[in-house]
This record gives sequence, C-alpha cells and structure tokens, in this order.
Amino acid sequence: MNANIELPELRSVTALYGVGSALADKLAQLGIHTIQDVLFHLPFRYEDRTQTIPIGELQAGVRAAIEGDIELSEVSFRRRRQLLCRISDGTGWLTLRFFHFSNAQQTQLSRGTRLRCFGEVRSTTNGLEIVHPEYRRIIGNNIAVDTGDTLTPVYSATEGVQQTRLRQLTTNALQTLKNKSQHAIRDWLPNELLPDKQWPNLQTALEYVHRPPPDASIDLLTKGLHPAQRRLAFEELLAQQLSLRALRQDIQRDNSWSLTNGKDLLEQFLHSLPFKLTRAQARVWNDIEHDLAQPYPMLRLVQGDVGSGKTIVAALAAIKAVACGMQAAVMAPTELLAEQHARNFMQWMQPLNIEVALLTGKHSGAARDRLMQGLHNGTTGIVIGTHALFQSDVRFAKLALAIIDEQHRFGVHQRLLLREKGMQENCYPHQLIMTATPIPRTLAMTAYADLDVSVIDELPPGRTPVQTVVLPDGRRDSVVQRVHEACKQQHQVYWVCPLIEESELLSAQAAEDTYAKLSVALPDLRVLLLHGRMNAKQKDATMMQFKQHQADVLVATTVIEVGVDVPNASVMVIENAERMGLAQLHQLRGRVGRGSAHSSCVLLFQYPLSDIAKQRLHIMRETSDGFEIARRDLELRGPGELLGTKQTGLAQLRVADLMRDSDLLPAVQQAAEQLLKSSPDIVAALLKRWIGHGERFGKV
Ligand code: ADP
Ligand code: MG
Repeated sequence: MNANIELPELRSVTALYGVGSALADKLAQLGIHTIQDVLFHLPFRYEDRTQTIPIGELQAGVRAAIEGDIELSEVSFRRRRQLLCRISDGTGWLTLRFFHFSNAQQTQLSRGTRLRCFGEVRSTTNGLEIVHPEYRRIIGNNIAVDTGDTLTPVYSATEGVQQTRLRQLTTNALQTLKNKSQHAIRDWLPNELLPDKQWPNLQTALEYVHRPPPDASIDLLTKGLHPAQRRLAFEELLAQQLSLRALRQDIQRDNSWSLTNGKDLLEQFLHSLPFKLTRAQARVWNDIEHDLAQPYPMLRLVQGDVGSGKTIVAALAAIKAVACGMQAAVMAPTELLAEQHARNFMQWMQPLNIEVALLTGKHSGAARDRLMQGLHNGTTGIVIGTHALFQSDVRFAKLALAIIDEQHRFGVHQRLLLREKGMQENCYPHQLIMTATPIPRTLAMTAYADLDVSVIDELPPGRTPVQTVVLPDGRRDSVVQRVHEACKQQHQVYWVCPLIEESELLSAQAAEDTYAKLSVALPDLRVLLLHGRMNAKQKDATMMQFKQHQADVLVATTVIEVGVDVPNASVMVIENAERMGLAQLHQLRGRVGRGSAHSSCVLLFQYPLSDIAKQRLHIMRETSDGFEIARRDLELRGPGELLGTKQTGLAQLRVADLMRDSDLLPAVQQAAEQLLKSSPDIVAALLKRWIGHGERFGKV
C-alpha cells in the first residue's frame, strides 16, 4: 500500500487549485477527502441544456434553459435587497431574481444584455420567475464563457457546495491528474478481468461521465447504458462484492463453538412430528448441521417461500445448540409471530425437556425478572423474542445460536447486535437467518455475498395452489356471500383490512368498522377481530381461538402478514389490495393454502387503479410462485426497494444498478474471486476508492 500514497489521486482535495480548508470541510460532508473522491463523486443525472424553450411555452415547475434579452434591470428593496431582471425572447417574458449578487454582476446584468439561463421555473402573482438561475452572457453570436453546449451533469450537492462548484472541481481534478502523471488515474483492473474489451479505459470513462462531449447521447447516459458508465458500474459492483466478502472473511476468522452432539435428541424430535421433512428441508438442514460443526461462526441465510417450512429447520438448529449444552435465541419481527413461535416451540420441546421462554416488550416486573434469570443462569435453553432481546439487561449464559426469522423485516445491524450479545471467551454465536423474500440467484450472491445461502425450493406435499380472483369493491356483497358458504363448509376465513398511512390507530379503526359490518352481515357466523392496538394477551387469545376453530372469520389488519399459521383457514379476502406491494400480497396470501382443502384468495380493489397497481394484481392472479413474483417485483420496482440497502448491507450504489447491470454479475463474481486469491493490494485499492474508510461498513 505504501506505493499508493505516492499516487497523485490520493492527495488531499486541498491540493486542487482554489480548495482551502473551509471548502475541504464542506466537501468532507459529501465523503470527499481526496482528489480521487472528487472523481468518483459521480453525476446522478444529466440535464440537456442545449435545447432552449420559448418563454411563452414555459410551465411552472420545470427546469428549463431559456435565451433572451434583458429588458429591465433594477435593484429592489422590497422586504430584502434583491436584483430583478426581466428577460424576454419575443414569445413572452419572465423575471430572474437574485438575492445574492455582486456589483460586477449587477453591471453585467444590465438592460440589453443577451443571456442564456437555466433554472427551475416558478409561478408567482407577477408571472413566471427563476430564482438564482445559472446563466451566461451571449455576446454577438458567441457564447461568452465556459463549457459550451453539452449535457450538464448534476451531482449530489450540499450546503455551500453547489453544482457549479462541483463541476469546476471535477474539471480541475481531471486536469490536475493529466498534468501530473503519464497514465492519469491509476487503473487497477487488469484488462483480462473486464468482460467487455470495447469499454473505454478508466480515465476516459471518468472524463466522459463528468464532461459528456457535445455529441453524447442523452438517451444512453440517462439510461446508464453508455460503455463509460458500464465500465464504472463494473468496477463499483466489484468493489461492493469485495467488501462483502471481506466482511465475511473477517467473521470467519472469529471463533465459535463447534456443535456436534445431539443426534438422539434430534431423532426424537423428528419422530414426534406428524410429517417427514421435505427433501429440500433435509438438504438445508444438512448444510446447517455442517456449518454448526465448524469452529467458526455460521452465517447462513435460508430462503424459502411462504409456507415452505422454515420453522422446523430453525427448531432443529436450536435443539442442536441445547443438546451441546448451549442456548439458542429466535428473533421474530412481530409480537404475534414471536407468540406463535413460542407456542410451537414449547409444544415441540416439552417432550425433549428443553425449557422455552418468550420475551417481548410487554413483559415486565417479576415475570420478566424470572425470565432474565433463566437466561442468565442457563436453565432456559431456547428464548423466542422480538426486538426486546436486544435490551441491555438481557444476558445469556452461553448463547451459541442466533436465529433471525423474516430477515427482511430487520436491518443488518440488528442481527449483528445479537451476535455481539452472544460474544463470550472470544467466541461468537452462529447465525441462522431466514427470509421469505426469494430473490434470483445472481442477485442473492451479490446482495448477500457476506452470507452463505440455502434455498428451500419445495413446498410440503399436499398443498393445493391458491386460486386468486380480483374484484372491484362494488362486488363486496357477493364476496360476503362466498365467505358465508365457505364457513358453512367448516372452512375458516381471513378478512384483511389494509394499513392506513402507517397509522396503527386508523388501521385499527378501519378494521373495527369492517368487523362491525361483517358481524351484522354474517349473524350466524363467529367473527373475531385482531389489530395492532390490542394488547399481547388479547392478540394471543384471539389467535388461539381462531386456530382452535372457535371462530369462523378473523377480521385483521396486516399484523397477520408474517408467519401466522392456521392450516384450516382456506379463504382470504384482502381489501384495498391495490394499495399493497407484491411482496406483502404474496406474504398475506401465503396464510391460506396450508391445509389440504382447496383455498382461494379474493383481492378487492377500489378505483382509480394506477398502472402499476393493475400490473401487480395481474401478477398475483397469474402466479403463486414466490420466486416468480419476486422477479416481477424486481422489474416493477428495482432491487433497491425490494431488498432495501439497510437489509442487505449493500451500500448505496453510485453508477451501478443491480437490475440494469445484472448481466455483469457473473463476471463480477469471477473477478472478485481472482483478486481475493492473488491481488490483495488491488482489493485494498478498490475498497478505498469505492467504499471509503469503513464509513459505510464495519462489523458494528
Ligand atoms: P414458513 O416457511 O412460511 O415459515 P412454516 O414453518 O410456518 O412456513 O410452515 C408452514 C406449515 O407447514 C406449518 O403448518 C408446518 O407445520 C408445515 N410443515 C412444515 N414442514 C412440513 C413437512 N415437511 N410436511 C408437511 N408439513 C410441513
Ligand atoms: Mg415463517
């Protein structure tokens, strides 16, 4: 790395002309410390200022380039001192308003001057105006200053560092490097690792994206498909991949407990189940058992569609930990799910003499103290809980395994917190992470490069596909009829009311209204209500009643979205389905079709239907395959939203786009492997360039 220090691009930004310590401090807020950082602060979009718009055709709210003559220029003292210029091009006029201006500017912007301006057009009571436009004077037929007419890059800016400044800086940085060294910025990638030999080299690519030439295609650049962008995207994806793998290598250098005992107990458990593991479950359990036997921490993600039977696999792992004299913790994202898990685990573990405890935010007082004691002295083998497991007074005797259910609901940092809690004698607990958000394989390998991934790609036998119908809300009466018929045939029904603007209170009220109406419409049926504002006891009792078929219809908010398991329920009605995302609809629908009965799902919607909502409903009707739905979701929304950068540990990408550039991923994988094997110096340099100094990553 010592040689790197000599690289001109690694010098401080203050080496650039005009950058003093005050500006350097502001740049630091953008993560810019070195000349290299300036160059990798990439534009996130481009503006086409080559096309001017006749002033008469302007509309408020658009960003536009205009050209015209100053007809009137005056300094006004209304409220604040300001310079007002009226500019006209024969089709109309508008006002330019400057609150900050120098004397020189005031002289320049005098009557008769021809200007080309750019900015956001606003509407005022005195007509249209642009506040602080970017402008330049046009003298004769010539454009007076700077870059000429090309696509203008737009950077993410910050207080005190505006677009023009950032543009100056990048020009400056590009120029400085050219002057300083023969090969300009150091290109770390050996040519043979690049999947496309036609790509421009690094310096050319950077120049192109920062200063697109006059003939650049705005279409290609906007879509991110220009070879210069692809070249940079490849390097960025590679850096991301390297950083996640480095994170994983770090973790695997830690110690953990090698868990090898427990054969008898596991067999006893498997015999007690009313079914056999599916082949997929057995295979995934095999992976996990192998991991747990290693003297370093397991870090495994189990992906499995809704209803594929992830809980049993988690139970097997937990039993193994306890059989080896250690403890296991299961973390669930909602109280409802934690309670359901606890009920299952207690039932399963009792014959095995393993003590199971439930810890949620609702526990307090003496009961909580007892619970803490059990965890601390080790009599409790398995604890199931919500976020409450992170509370500072939760202490484990010897936690060897942390299981995180429905991982998409947690951030990467939360799961690492649980890891820290289990640290003991220099050993870290194994981690098993479970998710029902299936994503395509190449994407998974990229987004979860810090994890090993197993997939339960098979549903337990005897499941019949859920038939899905989409109906406008006007058909509600016929749906109520259908609910009635189903219940008369001893089936049970979920009636789901949507979440309203993230307000638990309003959602609860909506559910209460529906509950009241359905109770009237279905007088001979037993209707129950479940929502997030009820306390844990009420929720639990309601769920129990429904599970034991002491009720026919459960009116609920989306609290039942994750994990809830009542096999006899075979009809689901979802109101305002047009408001929900695909993943959520799929999760909800996964609550039915768990028994042997034929199941159905009614998606009620209200007009107007947006285009995307229409497509979502169509996809739901077409398929029930979680992987297919995730793939379509990816197309509709892009991976950023599907995965959430929080959840994957993927830092924000600058040029790359996981979806658009997914064809690069195999080459990225390959390159990463090769570099990790033989070129640690290149790995370090790329991480420094793209990821920074551990600001975005770290073990927490
Ligand atoms: P998910 O993967 O969505 O968490 P669950 O673990 O809740 O799924 O399992 C869904 C249902 O399938 C449960 O009722 C569970 O008992 C049942 N189940 C799990 N594995 C099997 C199997 N191998 N054969 C039959 N039923 C199974
Ligand atoms: Mg589950």
